[in-house]
Amino acid sequence: MIELEGLTKRYGEKVAVNNLSFTVRPGIITGFLGPNGAGKSTTMRMVLGLDRPTAGDVRIDGKHYDQLKDPLTYIGALLEAKAWHGGRSAYNHLLCLAQSNGIPSRRVHEVLDTVGLTAVAKKKTKGFSLGMGQRLGIAAALLGDPRILMFDEPVNGLDPEGIHWIRNLMKTLASQGRTVFVSSHLMSEMALTADHLVVIGQGRLLADTSMADFIAENSRSYVRIRTPQRERLLDMLHGEGITVVEPGAEVLEVDGDKAEAVGELAARHQVVLHELSPQRASLEEAFMQLTAESVEYHAHDGQPAGPVPQQQQQQQQQQQWGSDWRKG
Ligand code: ADP
Ligand code: MG
Repeated sequence: MIELEGLTKRYGEKVAVNNLSFTVRPGIITGFLGPNGAGKSTTMRMVLGLDRPTAGDVRIDGKHYDQLKDPLTYIGALLEAKAWHGGRSAYNHLLCLAQSNGIPSRRVHEVLDTVGLTAVAKKKTKGFSLGMGQRLGIAAALLGDPRILMFDEPVNGLDPEGIHWIRNLMKTLASQGRTVFVSSHLMSEMALTADHLVVIGQGRLLADTSMADFIAENSRSYVRIRTPQRERLLDMLHGEGITVVEPGAEVLEVDGDKAEAVGELAARHQVVLHELSPQRASLEEAFMQLTAESVEYHAHDGQPAGPVPQQQQQQQQQQQWGSDWRKG
């Protein structure tokens, strides 16, 4: 279990992590989702004691990282920066890590086997592909047979086979009762792996929810309608007790799978429709909506901005998002 309590990190004026409190539980995969720069890596570094919190606290099974005896047997991590001695073989890299952490050397063979690097174990790691490097990093995380695993953007830059392999590995680890905490900036990735979802934006907690609840709440189905007889159709729909959302002058939206009902109603009253299309909001949209609400903390480095018209806020957020996605 990982417990964060009011965890905060400032770099000068920049608030990278802002008063985060949540718990990462065993037996499930907890996805840690946020756009680039949201504070995921900083949070994970603080879990491992690599960065000191400005305020607040983070505990691993009730203890600070530096209070853990043989920490690699409690928590294993794959961080973003992949630093290992390129001149060493994968086997020697892991053996060195095992020996300096009181881990029996037979574990080196076991984890090499788990990650599928046995055949290249004696090769120098500087010739490794990105995928092999990720596998080696994961082997190191698994070395102490820890109950808690933390992976920072593990699928970044991997080919589909590597991505598939990491997803399955995380599922297996969680099914063994371990705590699995994995970050990503991609909603689509989280939707495929995570059982629980923690979303942050600008260092702040935006959601802490089961994946199933997030999907149920956010994949709204609705019908999109365009008509030149807008007022007439609105009256008819209201008359039938159908609630209408009016997102723009040209478009009406009706919640639920009501395309047939609306079509038949329009036909009965001879109202012309230019569009009648069933829609489903994507999780990606829900994620953007969620982070859009933290936009006032965007341009002002942690300081709430003055009143900004909502539409303008959303445009700013979308622009920011556009560049975040491209960076990712
Ligand atoms: P994420 O992993 O979600 O992309 P990071 O934790 O890497 O986000 O970064 C959060 C914010 O903190 C970013 O704005 C980043 O520029 C800033 N930041 C991270 N590390 C440092 C540092 N060592 N010094 C100054 N700013 C930093
Ligand atoms: Mg990061």
